[in-house]
Amino acid sequence: MLTSKETIALFDQYVIGNYTRYPVSLVRGVNSEIWDAEGKRYIDFFPGWGCGLLGHCPKPIVEAVQKQVAELIHVPNTWYTELQGTWARLLSERSFGDGVAGAKAFFCNSGAEANETAIKLVRLHSPKERYKIITFRGSFHGRTMGALSATAQPKYHEGLEPMLDGFTYVSYGDLSAVEKEVDKETAAIMIEPIQGEGGVRMPPDGFLQGLRKICDEHKLLLVFDEVQTGCGRTGYWFGYQYFGVEPDIMTLAKTVSGSLAGAAMLAKAEIAPSLRPGMHAATYGGNPISAAAGIATIHMIESEGLLERTKKISNLFFTALNKLAQSTNLIQEVRGAGVMIGIELATEGAPVVKECLDRGLLLNCTQGNVLRLLPAMTIEEDIANEGLDILADVLKKG
Ligand code: PMP
Repeated sequence: MLTSKETIALFDQYVIGNYTRYPVSLVRGVNSEIWDAEGKRYIDFFPGWGCGLLGHCPKPIVEAVQKQVAELIHVPNTWYTELQGTWARLLSERSFGDGVAGAKAFFCNSGAEANETAIKLVRLHSPKERYKIITFRGSFHGRTMGALSATAQPKYHEGLEPMLDGFTYVSYGDLSAVEKEVDKETAAIMIEPIQGEGGVRMPPDGFLQGLRKICDEHKLLLVFDEVQTGCGRTGYWFGYQYFGVEPDIMTLAKTVSGSLAGAAMLAKAEIAPSLRPGMHAATYGGNPISAAAGIATIHMIESEGLLERTKKISNLFFTALNKLAQSTNLIQEVRGAGVMIGIELATEGAPVVKECLDRGLLLNCTQGNVLRLLPAMTIEEDIANEGLDILADVLKKG
């Protein structure tokens, strides 16, 4: 096996350097522990950039994928597979309609692609003169040109302009600004129920309810990007259930296919037919492997009672972090829901992340000063405590 150094040299020569990477080559993971090429162990509070809600290599997903890969790897969408139909049914039954088939699914491969689909569906479903979508400053919806145009963060647009026409940006949490922005060309409002990359920002009380009301009054579609908040992250199947506000369209990725590449857009059954034949496609969308993984994900979460467990793990993290916040003035705020946790620091977060890495703890920093933890709902309590002790040590020293 190559050392981390040798793998880095390989990348330097052959892989485009568009990512900033930590100088570590990872080789093996079990739940919330992961090892590098040198055999060093890390506790992972950010498994798979949010894809690892079930931890690394969860057994039911591994087994489902191993079985499926030996039977049938790929079927294009010119044919039917029971797997894709079943995956759609399971997602639909847990989302709009409370057990009734209130939603229909389109499958694709990534969060950006799911959001592209939502943008197309909004345009296809709305009267011709209505094409504008309101999104929010600090949002993140992906890197393809449509999803990027929806992403209201200028730093990601630099050098890539012009963006796709028809997106207007409003301050997150400002209902009256949304009201002012709506005009006769507006078709939809698109939002992450909790901004992830934007700094784990919670919607102010009543904000999502207010958006629903505006959408109802003006006949707009409400689109929730649940790429990060979906699939149990908040302790509910979907973030919209945590807040009690139902969107018309929802996008899912990351955990939806058990950490494998896979994504979905769900739309209420009465809206879904507007994505008519010929208007959109994804060669790999809903393929047998990602469908088998997606089905196994839902079964694992339910059979192991993981939504309930998420609430318990959430409590463990928030209790420890709120206590820590009282013992260091480096922490300005601890916020989030379920196992989506932001720690706003009074200083830069990068040195904290680096020090944690050296000490065997993986976490993320976003927006310069917000430490972001997206731990697995399956994390063992002693591992969680061990990681929290490292973080407390690093922050107290800082
Ligand atoms: N939406 C949100 C809320 C995300 O957090 C992300 C990725 N972090 C995306 C969309 C884009 O997903 P992907 O990288 O799979 O395209």
